[in-house]
Amino acid sequence: MKYSKFLLKTQKEKPSDVDSTAMSYMVRAGMIKKVSAGLFHYMPYFNMIMRKVEFQLRRAMESVDCSEVKFPLLVSKETLEKSGRWNAFGKEMFKLADRNQAEYAISPTNEEYATLVAGSFVRSYNDLPFSIYQIQKKYRDEIRPRDGVVRAREFTMKDAYSFHASEEDLSAYYKRMAKAYTDFFTTLGIKTVPVVADGGAMGGLYCDEYMAIGDEGEAEIAFCDKCHYGANLETVEINDTFKEDMRFKGNYKEVITPDTKRIVDLVKMLQREPSDFVKSMVYNAGGQLVMVLVRGDREVNEAKLAKLLKCDSLELATEKEIKSIGSVMGYVGPMGNLKNVRIIGDYEIKAMTNFIIGANKPNVHYMDVNNADFKCEWADLRFATENDVCPRCGGKLRVAMGNELGHIFALGTRYTDKFKTTFVDADGKEKIMQMGCYGIGLERTVASIIDQHHDEKGLVLPLSVAPFKVDIIIVDTKKENQVQKATELYDKLEENGIPVLLDDRKAGAGVKFNDFELIGVPVRVTFGRALENGEVEIEIRKTGERLNAKVDDAYKMVCKILKNL
Ligand SMILES: [Zn+2]
Repeated sequence: MKYSKFLLKTQKEKPSDVDSTAMSYMVRAGMIKKVSAGLFHYMPYFNMIMRKVEFQLRRAMESVDCSEVKFPLLVSKETLEKSGRWNAFGKEMFKLADRNQAEYAISPTNEEYATLVAGSFVRSYNDLPFSIYQIQKKYRDEIRPRDGVVRAREFTMKDAYSFHASEEDLSAYYKRMAKAYTDFFTTLGIKTVPVVADGGAMGGLYCDEYMAIGDEGEAEIAFCDKCHYGANLETVEINDTFKEDMRFKGNYKEVITPDTKRIVDLVKMLQREPSDFVKSMVYNAGGQLVMVLVRGDREVNEAKLAKLLKCDSLELATEKEIKSIGSVMGYVGPMGNLKNVRIIGDYEIKAMTNFIIGANKPNVHYMDVNNADFKCEWADLRFATENDVCPRCGGKLRVAMGNELGHIFALGTRYTDKFKTTFVDADGKEKIMQMGCYGIGLERTVASIIDQHHDEKGLVLPLSVAPFKVDIIIVDTKKENQVQKATELYDKLEENGIPVLLDDRKAGAGVKFNDFELIGVPVRVTFGRALENGEVEIEIRKTGERLNAKVDDAYKMVCKILKNL
């Protein structure tokens, strides 16, 4: 491709109306142009990357014997009513009516159509298992489209569906698909963590989300590099590995601490670390008052607390309620004569000694408090943090932001039941098919590639997705020798099937160098002043490494570099 003929308009300035780094680079690298909230023009350079991603995706689907279909975008109300999703999907699903007032939805995902296909093609267990997928645009009426292409109203999705004679066969296939997902993301250079997830509107037996790790993201996740455990931070269990320290009793003393209802004020006044304190929070859990103790630098994980107490509503207690247990707001603690309150300490406190805690009197805390000084139950009540112990293998946990790129579901008979999708099994009996479904959002995948592969100058695209592997820069297009030699290399690379961009624009060299860095072409070959000595300059984008080569060796050299990238 010649740059002078290519619609690729980069911009130097950071766009002001975007909310993520990946998005900012996509706008600057001329990949997308926002039309309105959640709608974008996808420009040629973006589409070229998408084609690379789709190529790898089709290979991944082939590797699990999944073949490509194409379903209609429109699904009738009757079909979606049969699965129960016409109402269940809520306002995010676009609905419309035809001229005869027949109602349709723009398909959110295609479980219904896939099930119909299974129903019409499968007769006996001999026809199973089979698996189909499509790559198609989807539409969601998002309340607040944000993060650019990550939560757009229109996006491309790969949705696959598999059908099986037994739950065991579904489970075996699910594992193959999970591996294909991991391999696919690895090929694109994206680090993902599979996270056990909640099925939501899809329903089913079990499911996993594939979260791309990044500095920015939709959800906080914890993961373990040792055993590949991953989970949403909120749900990570912390095992009780702490031994209760009961050596000291009665060593505590009062300390006067006026106006220190917040830990920060206390830390300042007593010149101690937040981890030297124990926070005591009182909750009203469906009418029952509960005091929760966590280390001063921790947050109470209310989801864990609600689960432990088996209650739906959890509210912080009012000043009046705190008074009713015999305490004072801002100075709550587990010691003294308290009534009508259940006290639960986080496991971690077991191992603490000589800590500071509220004394249930105005403006007073106790110092040098130990576990033997009060009684409580113990439970896992906080959020996991970096370096906490992995609940599965005992390794160290890491915490990062994650973006969901894919979601796989073992649906079981959730849909096939409703559509009476049966087959005749080996025993001659008619049975309901087992089903799985497997999605990947493609624009988000591109955004994650950029999120994980950029520097301050722009994209650093992995070879597997780079639309051009080589960027040939002609420094001065008025110099015939530069044009001629650059074109020769360009032709040779093209002939040999190496995608190449020839920057033949009538622009300054600085502009061309900046664009090379911004759009992230893996290798640059520059035809400039060095050509007078029969040389070109080669730069590797990823490492910034530069070297000079004889112009006649340039082709060989570029091939060698690409091979080793
Ligand atoms: Zn682990």
